[in-house]
Amino acid sequence: MIRYDNTLVAVVGAGPAGLMAAYSAASDGAKVVLFDRNTEPGRKLLLTGGGRCNVTHDGEWAELISAFFGGGRFLYPAFRALSNRDTVSWFEFRGISVIRENGGKVFPRSGSASDIRDTLVHACREAGVEVRTGTRIRGIEPGDGRFRLQTGERSGWEAAAVVLATGGLSYPATGSDGDGLRWAVKLGVPVVSTRPALAPLRSAEGWVGRLAGVSVDPVRAMLIRRDAEGKEETAGRAEGALLFTHRGLSGPVVLRLSRDLPGSWSGEITYAVLLDLLPDAGLGDLTAQMEALLRAAPKKTAVNALAGLLPASLTAAVLRQAGIETHTTAGTLSAKRCREAAERCKRLEVRIAGPARYAEAMVTAGGIAQSALDPRTMGVKEHPGLFAAGEIVDIDGDTGGYNLQAAFSTGWVAGCHAAAYVRRK
Ligand SMILES: Cc1cc2nc3c(=O)[nH]c(=O)nc-3n(C[C@H](O)[C@H](O)[C@H](O)COP(=O)(O)OP(=O)(O)OC[C@H]3O[C@@H](n4cnc5c(N)ncnc54)[C@H](O)[C@@H]3O)c2cc1C
Repeated sequence: MIRYDNTLVAVVGAGPAGLMAAYSAASDGAKVVLFDRNTEPGRKLLLTGGGRCNVTHDGEWAELISAFFGGGRFLYPAFRALSNRDTVSWFEFRGISVIRENGGKVFPRSGSASDIRDTLVHACREAGVEVRTGTRIRGIEPGDGRFRLQTGERSGWEAAAVVLATGGLSYPATGSDGDGLRWAVKLGVPVVSTRPALAPLRSAEGWVGRLAGVSVDPVRAMLIRRDAEGKEETAGRAEGALLFTHRGLSGPVVLRLSRDLPGSWSGEITYAVLLDLLPDAGLGDLTAQMEALLRAAPKKTAVNALAGLLPASLTAAVLRQAGIETHTTAGTLSAKRCREAAERCKRLEVRIAGPARYAEAMVTAGGIAQSALDPRTMGVKEHPGLFAAGEIVDIDGDTGGYNLQAAFSTGWVAGCHAAAYVRRK
């Protein structure tokens, strides 16, 4: 059965972008149906911020825009329509009190992502949105000034306007596996090729895995690409906190670098992360500091004498990488060996085992090209009545609440303008 309503706005995807789009369209008077393939809305939202949901970032616009790796200017009109402060007010008005942490990360005071999800769903229902979970849209076809959304062989819906909010390809188990992007390609909408972003990086080096749980803040990191002849090129740079994991590297600095790693590469090419573990000290000063520490405790092992510079297990790993046995006594280490150890602290190489994985990536870089959209309406230029919001769009930000804010703001704009489009028809 095909259900047709020439006043209907259909929103596909009940993540943060789709929920906000459905709410804003319905509060602007549109009849709205919101589809999600999962049996509950906002499944990924429940995982955000480790279950606490870093719902937005408290900062000036310039800071927010710069957190989107060069693509943030596109978001100006959306942030003007629904800013980070408007988002906080929107939730506070609905009884969610928030706290600000770590330089601007905003969380619900309850520490529960489900409060954010439930508030969005409740607001949608109150505004009259029909929420249809467990309904996977299988394709979208435009024709005769409307859109047909297939739900089965012979069943579907026809709507006057559609908001695509199906997310990217990250954490596909949450329901976002690229359906919307495939439809966009089929409709001839330009799509920038996608790759995982904000993902941990794997390393096959055993010493890295043995440091699992060790963190250093800040480190300066450089992603380098080496060709078959050993020629090096810098593929990315970042600074921030580093975490060693059983599989490799994580922490904000590595999550940031991951978007600079290509989705695949040939066997001839290798990638490595070069870590400056003590970025505030120059090599000369660090060498002098290490020499002083070793001289001050000549009978201790080198690792113990250098305690305080870095976590002991990391110091031991750095010394080993510099070819120095960790039980070597401090007093026997020559000035040359000491300088080599300092050099390792400033340039510790971790070889990367392979591309980042969508299954572990918090967001997807790439998506519907910014040039295909009007940033003031989030409308697809070549398809009047079709809108896009959230991670399906070629926009990805750093950790810190930026991605959810982008989803809320673009969802808000898409919903308002989808409602206005239907009204005008
Ligand atoms: C572990 C983790 C932690 C994160 N933490 C944070 C954080 O604290 N702060 C932050 O700002 N960002 C965070 N992010 C990123 C943030 O969650 C995403 O950027 C955001 O969810 C994107 O919203 P969206 O609505 O565009 O897409 P999604 O949240 O991916 O929602 C898309 C929805 O579309 C549905 N869908 C897909 N295809 C179909 C179809 N064919 N038919 C029907 N429905 C469909 C999916 O089921 C899904 O519910 C985190 C991400 C992860 C994975």
